Amino acid sequence: MNLVTHKFGGASVRDAKAIRRIGDLLSEQIQSSERVVVVVSAMGKTTNALEAIWSETRESERRILWRSIVKKHLNVAEDLTLSSELKQTLTNRMELCYTAAEDARNKSMDAAYDSIVAAGELASTTLVEAWLSQAGMSVGWWDVRDTIHTSGPHRFARVDEGSLLQAGESLQEFMSQDAQVVVTQGFIGRHADGSTSTLGREGSDYSAALLAVAVGAQSVTIWKDVPGMLNADPKLYSDAVTVTQVDHAEALELSYYGASVIHPRTVKPLQHASIPLWVRSFLDPEGPATRIDAFPNLTPEVPMFIWRDDQTWIEIYTADGSFLVEDHLTKVFGALGDSGIHVRLMQQSATHFGILADRSDAQMARLILALGDGFKLEQFSDLILLTVRHGDADVIKTLTEGREVLVEQRAGATWRRVLKKMKERPE
Ligand code: ASP
Ligand code: MG
Repeated sequence: MNLVTHKFGGASVRDAKAIRRIGDLLSEQIQSSERVVVVVSAMGKTTNALEAIWSETRESERRILWRSIVKKHLNVAEDLTLSSELKQTLTNRMELCYTAAEDARNKSMDAAYDSIVAAGELASTTLVEAWLSQAGMSVGWWDVRDTIHTSGPHRFARVDEGSLLQAGESLQEFMSQDAQVVVTQGFIGRHADGSTSTLGREGSDYSAALLAVAVGAQSVTIWKDVPGMLNADPKLYSDAVTVTQVDHAEALELSYYGASVIHPRTVKPLQHASIPLWVRSFLDPEGPATRIDAFPNLTPEVPMFIWRDDQTWIEIYTADGSFLVEDHLTKVFGALGDSGIHVRLMQQSATHFGILADRSDAQMARLILALGDGFKLEQFSDLILLTVRHGDADVIKTLTEGREVLVEQRAGATWRRVLKKMKERPE
């Protein structure tokens, strides 16, 4: 059986028109000999709206906001001319999330978060499945929580990638029965205690990769509103081009340095299972696309530029001005781990230790607390991290012309510069 995975993000399911387009796209793309897992995110900005309900302290307000989200989904069902029975299923699936979240609130707010945000994916997949079925496709709906078993903290759950094939058995069995296409949720999973979990914001790409491994798929296609992976942000560079072939290891590096086209955890399980990943545009399905695969001898086509905004430099030194020795560094790394800071770049001198990270006041507050009295900190914000892979000195120079460079590092094919932010965009 030829099995493939397709993933659609929030923009590709934003309304009834977008859902219809998924139907058209799939009927063009899918071969009759293929079985397909379709992984879907929540519609448009639904996850943000659900987060807002979760952080609302007044119960009556939560109810009001909640009703408007259910209504929004029912309106899409209406636009798609779906049956009243389907609307009832949709409402029921959503209400279970709300009730679970309300129950969880006084025990664990993080568990409550996972329960309520899961409504977005459960609802969007209900609509997509019903539409595909109405459009005449052979299709089934799968609750991904029966396949994605998680552990670790709520909101940032972990998945044991080594036991995916086993976890995927029930889905494989479901797929070997009638339906040619199975529609399921990205982003969510289930803890061993039965509670709903999530994999971190924008986690649906990662879900698609996990599911591809779980069912033994031959490929994953992520449908975006951009033509694959570009060598630079097209908003900053009008001459950005699609990179057509990227080695798994290179894609890992790029997402590590902040390329935002796919979620950073997506590539590893696919690399391990030798599954190619396509990034394509749903606006131009036959247009330029990127294939991420094992390309061991690939010469990169063009240099890749990654601008990462809103960076902050944190300078750490001992309170008594003494040298930073190993004991201090053990403490510093422990505190960074405890505060959830993802270090993008670091630099050490005799008395100072500097790190670059995404700016977050909450994480900074946790870091100060975790470091305790023995250390002092200074923070410099409004910075940009520019990463260039496979560029040369000239490229770097042109890109950073006229900008103040605070830190520079070079390792192999990677050049990185920390720059002060300027108002105008580079050309
Ligand atoms: N709906 C979730 C989010 O917006 C997951 C995803 O879109 O990948 O973060
Ligand atoms: Mg989303």
